[in-house]
Amino acid sequence: MPENRILILGGGINGATAARELVLNGQNVWLVDTADLTFGATAYSSRLIHGGLRYLEFAEFSLVKESLVERGRLLKLAPHLVKPLRLFIPVRNSWGGFTAAAGKFLGLPIAPKKTVHRGLRVVQVGLWLYDRYARTGDLPARSLHRPGESGVPRVNPNLARRLWAYSDAQITFPERMVIDFLADARRLAAEKGLDFRVFTYTEARLAADGRTIELRPAGNSTAEPIEVFEPAAIINATGAWVDDTLRRLPAPSRQLMGGTKGSHFLTFNPRLGELLAGHGIYTEASDGRPVFILPLLEGTLVGTTDIPFRGDPRAAVASEEELSYLLAAVSDVLPDAGLSRGDIAMHYCGVRPLPFVDARTPAAITRRHQLVWSDECRVPLVSLVGGKLTTCRSLAEETAAAVLGKRGMTAELNSRDRPIPRTPVDDCLFEEPTAWASAAQWAAEHEWVTRLEDLVERRLMWHLSPGLSRARLSELADILIQQGRLDAREKAAAIERCTNRLQSHFGIVLNPEP
Ligand SMILES: Cc1cc2nc3c(=O)[nH]c(=O)nc-3n(C[C@H](O)[C@H](O)[C@H](O)COP(=O)(O)OP(=O)(O)OC[C@H]3O[C@@H](n4cnc5c(N)ncnc54)[C@H](O)[C@@H]3O)c2cc1C
Repeated sequence: MPENRILILGGGINGATAARELVLNGQNVWLVDTADLTFGATAYSSRLIHGGLRYLEFAEFSLVKESLVERGRLLKLAPHLVKPLRLFIPVRNSWGGFTAAAGKFLGLPIAPKKTVHRGLRVVQVGLWLYDRYARTGDLPARSLHRPGESGVPRVNPNLARRLWAYSDAQITFPERMVIDFLADARRLAAEKGLDFRVFTYTEARLAADGRTIELRPAGNSTAEPIEVFEPAAIINATGAWVDDTLRRLPAPSRQLMGGTKGSHFLTFNPRLGELLAGHGIYTEASDGRPVFILPLLEGTLVGTTDIPFRGDPRAAVASEEELSYLLAAVSDVLPDAGLSRGDIAMHYCGVRPLPFVDARTPAAITRRHQLVWSDECRVPLVSLVGGKLTTCRSLAEETAAAVLGKRGMTAELNSRDRPIPRTPVDDCLFEEPTAWASAAQWAAEHEWVTRLEDLVERRLMWHLSPGLSRARLSELADILIQQGRLDAREKAAAIERCTNRLQSHFGIVLNPEP
């Protein structure tokens, strides 16, 4: 007999929201990640909670509508994490891109011979629809501006004839939202007397009977299992790893994923920050692809690229070519910043968990999510394919309904009005940054931290701060030692491993000790 417990594989935004939705509906949930929580795309996104203006060109109306509704909800439910952001689109001409946009919209193969920049009218139509779909009235509607107007980003007047402004939202730390969802699930489970557990650096495999799950330390398939149980259902929420997870379980499947890699860089160039005037810019690169230039903490985040990717998502790193492409897009629109390679403080790269389709260009692959059941598996097994940060909550609702439906039950409750409670770490990160040591202590004690890099990259996000140093790593390591999470004899090795990863993955070179 299966035990009354649902197994979720993957601790990114979609695994975390599904866990909370199921606990809300009275289910026992165990969540397992082969690495740390929020180890995948969730931490490497553009950090926007948005409708996805450009999806309108691909006639993805229902996705844009759903995203805008969810944007409104997340602004209300997680105001400590999700904040309104005004974005400006520099337009170079009046009618540019009309034929191409109409072609994409109608699904016609109209491919312009050279890059055509989207003009005033195309953007106007898109923003009109966007405002209509948003309908919440909480955020200001579109407006048209001239370069040089006060309060407007100071873009190159030779490039932009006008700027369209519109409203969206930004999540500074999606990493924190994952933790906040799981902390809420844990709280709910305690209230309801449910069995809720999170296992990181752990791998789940199906035993030979095809029903029993064995949990072992990740990467150690010969170790004695930590736990053996028969789950009532399995949710594969492993993002770009969905196919890999099915192969390893094993559970035979056709190819589901067709990921593309997207890179960003962060700069602390002060002139760029001034030119942005606290707003974001949504511009186009030399090939017409959209590029965001966004205020983020003390710096500016620039991204992204969109390149088909076949390897292990763990190994995805921004290439010099991608960084040059993004730098060129910034220099085009904000030449006064004088941005150069030396201004890049760090970069990151993620693999979008997109559905496998035979699309002509990566940008044309749908961003809509799908639930795919593995019919041959002896345990009800569903894989989440695609999705965005923005629609994590609605996807969780859909997932919970589907999994409960498979078990002959219905979801009685949903999280549409349930606030996402803030934790003491959120308070420290946003309001009292000097209290970082107590934030680190709290995270180490309550937030499923195992390694030094978990704390640095995915609980406190020090890699996005100009203040990260070897001395700070040492202080964080001491906190892990005090909490019994790190053996004092391992401290130097832990700092070395963390420093190496910061360099190889993010291009961050920490100064040696003074
Ligand atoms: C460049 C880029 C920009 C983006 N920008 C935005 C944006 O601005 N706004 C927006 O709404 N969306 C954006 N997205 C999309 C969004 O980030 C992703 O759709 C979302 O984060 C996917 O979350 P996930 O939980 O499905 O997967 P992930 O966050 O990738 O998490 C998957 C987890 O599964 C774990 N895992 C892997 N294999 C296994 C296994 N066998 N067993 C257990 N665990 C396993 C991994 O360690 C990881 O923690 C962007 C994505 C990218 C890449």
